[in-house]
Amino acid sequence: MFRPPFCPHRGCAQHRDPAPDFYTRHGSFWPRCRAHPVPRFRCRGCRRTFSRQTFRADYRDHRPHLNAPLFDLTSMGVGLRMSARRLGLSRRCTELKLRKIARHLRRLNLTLRRPLHGHVALHFDELETFEANRSLRPLTVPVLIETSTRYCVWAESATIRPKGKMTPRRLEKLAVEERRRGRRRDRSRRAIRRTLGRARDLLAEDARVTLFTDEKSSYPGLARRAFGAQRLAHHTTNSRLARTTWNPLFPINHEDARLRDMLGRLRRQSWLVTKRRRWLDLVLQVQIAYRNLVRTRFNHDTASPAQLLGFVPRRLTKHEALSWRQEWGKRSLHPLARGTRSVAEFEEASALAA
Ligand SMILES: [Zn+2]
Repeated sequence: MFRPPFCPHRGCAQHRDPAPDFYTRHGSFWPRCRAHPVPRFRCRGCRRTFSRQTFRADYRDHRPHLNAPLFDLTSMGVGLRMSARRLGLSRRCTELKLRKIARHLRRLNLTLRRPLHGHVALHFDELETFEANRSLRPLTVPVLIETSTRYCVWAESATIRPKGKMTPRRLEKLAVEERRRGRRRDRSRRAIRRTLGRARDLLAEDARVTLFTDEKSSYPGLARRAFGAQRLAHHTTNSRLARTTWNPLFPINHEDARLRDMLGRLRRQSWLVTKRRRWLDLVLQVQIAYRNLVRTRFNHDTASPAQLLGFVPRRLTKHEALSWRQEWGKRSLHPLARGTRSVAEFEEASALAA
C-alpha cells in the first residue's frame, strides 16, 4: 500500500516536515499506460493534490514503457540516433528522455552512497577524447574508481587545449577556430578537483586513502589538496610501463577500456557541436549508474560494485533503477524497499539488521 512520505510541493510546510496525517485520500485515476488505478491524495497543508505517480521517476513522461529500453540501449553504447530508430521515437524526444533518465540516475547513484570506513584504495586516470573535431577541440575525462569493487566514483568531461605537433596548416585552422569561438580553456584541473572531491565526500572520518595514478606532475598536489596529506598514500606508475594485468594501474586501464567502447560511439555524432560535451557527461552518468548498480563487477560475479561496498543489499534491475524520483536526497524513496520507505529509513533498518 502506498503512503506518501511528504507533500511533493516544495513551498509547502508539509514538504520539509510532514505531520503523520498530513494527507487525505482523494480517489484515484486510471492512466492509459498502466494496468492498475493510481491513488490520489490531498495535502491538508496546502490543499493541493498529488498521486503516487508524483513520486515516480517517470512522472509526466510520455511513453514511460520506453524508459527501461532506452536505458538498456544507452548502457550498451548505442547512440542517440540509433536508439531513436529502434524505439520508434523522434530524435528530439529520445534526447529529452535520455536527459531526464541520466539526471535521475546521477541522483540515484549519489543518494545510495554511504560513507566508506577503514582503508580505501582508489585508482584515477584521465581519458582523452574530443568534441566534434579531434585536432581543434580535445577533451579530457577524469575517471575515478574504487579499486577492489570497480565502483565508479565519478567521471566528467572538461575542455583542454589542443596539443601535439603543430604544423603550419593546423596552426592556421586553430587561429580560425579561436577567432570564431574564443580561446579554448584548459579546465582539466577543475574537473580533477571535482572528481577527487566526490571521493572525499564518500569517506568517513576514520578512512585512509591509497591513490594509484600515473606520473602526471599535477596529481600529487591535487590529491593532497583533496584528501589531506595525513591520510593519503599516493602511488605513481610510469604510464609507459606495459599495460598488462601486472601493471599497478591495470584496474583503471581496464575500466577505461570499457568506457572507451561507449565513448567511441559518441565520436560519430559530430553534428552535435554545441551540445556535445554536455551529452557526453549525461551518457557517462548512465554508464556509471549501470556499472555501479545494475551490472556485476566481473562476468563471473553475482554482485554489483555498489553491493560489494555495502550501499545496497542486492543488484538493481533496470526497472528498479528507474522507479522512484531521487530529487530529495536521502528522503527520496528507496528503489529496493518494500512498501514506501525513504533511503534514510531503509539504511537505518538494514544497519539494525546487520
Ligand atoms: Zn502540501
